[in-house]
Amino acid sequence: MSFLFNNHKIPSAIIAQAKATIEENEGRTPTEDEVTEMLKLMYSLANISIEQVKKELDRKKKLQEFPKGFALDHGGTCKLCGKGTDLSDSWFDRYGIKCLACQKAMDTGLIPDRIFGKENSFYTDCDLEKHFNLKGKELGEWIKAGLIKARIIPNLNGKGKHFRLFLMSDNKGFLPPLKMLEEGKYEVSEIEGRKFTEYVYWYQQKDPLAYLKKYGIVKYLEIAEPEHEKLIKESPQQPEPEREIQVSYCAPCNYPAPLKDQKRLLKRKAKRKH
Ligand SMILES: [Zn+2]
Repeated sequence: MSFLFNNHKIPSAIIAQAKATIEENEGRTPTEDEVTEMLKLMYSLANISIEQVKKELDRKKKLQEFPKGFALDHGGTCKLCGKGTDLSDSWFDRYGIKCLACQKAMDTGLIPDRIFGKENSFYTDCDLEKHFNLKGKELGEWIKAGLIKARIIPNLNGKGKHFRLFLMSDNKGFLPPLKMLEEGKYEVSEIEGRKFTEYVYWYQQKDPLAYLKKYGIVKYLEIAEPEHEKLIKESPQQPEPEREIQVSYCAPCNYPAPLKDQKRLLKRKAKRKH
């Protein structure tokens, strides 16, 4: 359904008004084609928003009839695991859209429904990686050693792992509240004539061990030497040309992932340091 002018000619009065606004704000005169293209884009985005609001209202209305929820006739994004759902894998209830594996985990009590609507009530694998550089084998060792407790949601057929999360309530006193760990930022630094553009994580902006001293995790964290500083020490006579470090992004959460040659201030051990 199209609500606006998407498939029709845009009225000339609206084009003229948009043109005048650009002239006033940007001090230049846009072509009519440019203004028309811009307005078409705006209208198509507005149509998408209207469609989404309409769908949401329809779902809430249907929820009154089916308070425990209902299967959707379209896909969406699971509120819990963040994965895309399709026609055969979407459930909607008062907590939003969920894939059937996550829904089953909630129905069986594996995941408490209180985590919905409560901001930052759990860490994901992505959160542990981006905030503590903790992942893979080392994370597995932490879980095995009982340092951190994971809840594993199996696939719908009961086999394998669909998603894993680390509830704050299961890891009280060990993991800090997520809101303490600020988002990072990009910074350009120059070391001995070499320029580095890199993503600066929260733990590079403050003393992480002092900052987290109240939380159990701090006993298992160490500050590691940044890789590029080590590089300079090892080969001071051979400076590399100016370069930018390319940052990759985590697929589920779109957060910049640390690379091998980026600063890695934290590393961890599964065994207690003292
Ligand atoms: Zn899910």
